[in-house]
Parts: sequence; C-alpha cells; structure tokens
Amino acid sequence: MPTWQDPGQKDAARAGVRVRIYPQPWFLDGVRGPVPLTLDVAAGSVAPGPACDRMYAVCALGKTQPYGLLCDRSGRLVPFLPPWRGASLPPPRPDARGHFDWLEPDDPRFLAMHAWACARFALDLWQGWLGHVRWHFSSFSPRLEILCTDGLDNAQAGFGYIELGWNRGWRGHSHPFALNFDVIAHELGHLLLFSLLGIPPAAWQDAAFRAIHEAMADVVALLAAAALEPVVEDVLARTCGNLYLANELGRFAELSPADQLREASNSVSLAQFRDGWTDEHDLALPLVGAFFDILVEIYQIHLVEWGVIPSWVIELADDPERAAAFAHPLDEVFSDAFARSREPFRRALALARTLTGRIVAGTIRGLAGVRLSFASLVQAALQAERRVSNGRFARTLRDSFAWRGIGTIEVGPLLRPQPARSHLGSARTFVPLGMTRR
Ligand SMILES: [Zn+2]
Repeated sequence: MPTWQDPGQKDAARAGVRVRIYPQPWFLDGVRGPVPLTLDVAAGSVAPGPACDRMYAVCALGKTQPYGLLCDRSGRLVPFLPPWRGASLPPPRPDARGHFDWLEPDDPRFLAMHAWACARFALDLWQGWLGHVRWHFSSFSPRLEILCTDGLDNAQAGFGYIELGWNRGWRGHSHPFALNFDVIAHELGHLLLFSLLGIPPAAWQDAAFRAIHEAMADVVALLAAAALEPVVEDVLARTCGNLYLANELGRFAELSPADQLREASNSVSLAQFRDGWTDEHDLALPLVGAFFDILVEIYQIHLVEWGVIPSWVIELADDPERAAAFAHPLDEVFSDAFARSREPFRRALALARTLTGRIVAGTIRGLAGVRLSFASLVQAALQAERRVSNGRFARTLRDSFAWRGIGTIEVGPLLRPQPARSHLGSARTFVPLGMTRR
C-alpha cells in the first residue's frame, strides 16, 4: 500500500517514487500546499510523463474535442481514442534519484505529475483489496492515458483514458480537475468497474446500472481519500471523531467549503425515486450514503469494543430519526473521548477503511457477469461481508441498505431527458464508451 512520507524521514528509507499531491482541492480555506506522498512504485522505474507500467500522463495542447464518439464528415459516429498524437507540454522528468517531488505547483508540468500520482495511488490502494485489475481496454492499449486538457469543461473516463478538463468559474473558482484528488479517484473508480464488470449490453444500462456505477465510483474515491493521512487528521480534528458530522470524508469534488457535488453523509432514500428519476448522480446518493454509514458504523463498533465510547452511540444510530439524533448529545461523548486520546480513533478509522474496502471489493467482484440491480448488489455485499468478516457486520449492512430502501424499493421511470449541467456547463449524459463526471 502507498504510504505517507514523513517529511523528516531519510531518503534511503524509502524505495518508492516520491510525489506531492493536494489531498483536498487546493483553493479551499485552510488547505495547505501539496503534501509529500511515497507511491508503491520503485523509484527509477517511472519515465518522463510521468509514465509507469500501468498509466501515463500527458498535458495536451490544442485539443478541442473530448475523447469519445465523434461525427465524421458523412455523419457517422467514429471513436476518438488515445493515444493523443497532437502537441503537448514537455513531460516532467524524474530527478536523478527517480522522484517527482521537485516539481512546484506553479510549474505547468505539475498538473501531469499530480494527476498521475493521484490515479496511481488510488489504483494501488484498490488493487490491494481487489487483486490485480486488468484494464478492460488492455487489448487496445496496455496503459491508461491520463490526459490534462483545457479543451473540456468536465472530467470523464472511457476506453483507455481519463480526461481531465477545467471546472470554470464555479462561484469564482476555476480549477483544473487534474488538481482534484476526488475527481481523479472517482474516474479511476469507473475504470475499475468497467474492467471488472465489463461494458454490459445497452438493454442492461438502465437506471440501476447507472446509479450503481456512479455510487461505486464515489465509494472508490471516498475510501481512497480515507487512506490519505492529512485527510484523516483533518476529518478527525474537525469532528472530534464523530464522523457523521459533515466533513471532508463525506464530500466529493468539493468546490468551496459550502458547496459539494455529492455528499456521502446524506439521508436520501430510494423511496424518493419511487415515482421516477431524472439524474443517475442523484439516484446514486442512497447507495453512497449506505456505504458511508457502513464505514462509520464499523468504525464506531470498534470504538465501543475498545471502551472508547459507550454502546448507546450505536443504538442511537439505529433510530430512524438518526439524522436529527446525531446532534448535540453526541458531541460531548466524542469530544471528551477525543481529548483523552486520538490514537484509538485513528486506528478505528484505518480498520474500518480496510474492512469496508475489502467488503466493497468483494461486492464488485461478486457482480461480475450479473445484471446490475440494487437487489443483486445487496446480495453480493452480504456474501462479501461473510467472506471478509464472517457475518460480524451483516446486521450493519442489512440495516444500512434497508433504511434507504436499497434492494426493496422499485425505482420509477426516467422522467425526462437529462438536462444540460447547470453549474459545470456541460452535458450530464451517459457516454457509451465511458462516463462523464457530471
Ligand atoms: Zn461518474
């Protein structure tokens, strides 16, 4: 697993490639500069680009069309896919010892290094839980292309690529998605799903398929963020260990401290979509929320078992009105325990992350060849839990899915064509060759 490098540590102690990344969007209040990270890739094995055995980054110049399907002169749809053959920025080179942490954020080549480093970190972390993942496009190209471009107002993943454009002027913040860890990990999540589950026939690409794809890509990003030490420190410090409070772990692609595209810590149920749905990202919310609840409950179960917090905290979580319940009374319990020692909270979160990661990985593996539905996902998750923890968290999973109607409530029809994205300024459409961010 990739590790955080203590800045004071001697070089010789580490064999991995050193990079620097922003664990959270760089423009947020209180977000520090890029932090050091050591990847599980041998120093000296990464070529300029950066380019490793699984992926390479490129900053394209003058790319006006996103990858995907394009219309040719005769009106036929033709695929436009990597490799990028146009102009590009000179690739960043490793230093004499094979590291990339010498790059400064104001260097235009920093983008390529950052995007590659985030994607490689997320891939290595998830392969630790999933086992080796062979790209679904490997017969077409052995390596993933991570392309940074200013010709796209979105981010997307597809056959052989992650393409990272710009988020322009959202409430005064324009930023390249190449600097957004959540977005990169989310897009990588789509590719892991395509690689493990394949691209199903069109008839199977229904509401459940779309919602599950989006939700699981979010879960991939959520747990990847939970493996970043600065995020863990920040989350625990801000919440005093009560993870149900809105915090960095629960938010994706954060655009400002008050706005987020998707919130994992939500109380959305599939019951809200009985009469129909308009957007798969909204339909994904109950499932993202359920996995967030599972992570938090496994974390709390450990804290209770270790005598750090009282058991009524978990009983309170079973209350249907729990959203309201997680207010004031819990604050004191957590802040008192947190003031005594932070260490058990760190340990409990690391354990919960690993257990949830293994359960999610088993769930994804269990869905191979199966038509995706909320019911099949619940079954796969319960089977995965049995293999990972022998039924110890089965009730947690059952309650979390049931509370949101996952596996029991039938989702209504698509109510209208999906509208153009209002605040990212691009279409939120499903792309047969891949998935757009929003
Ligand atoms: Zn997506």
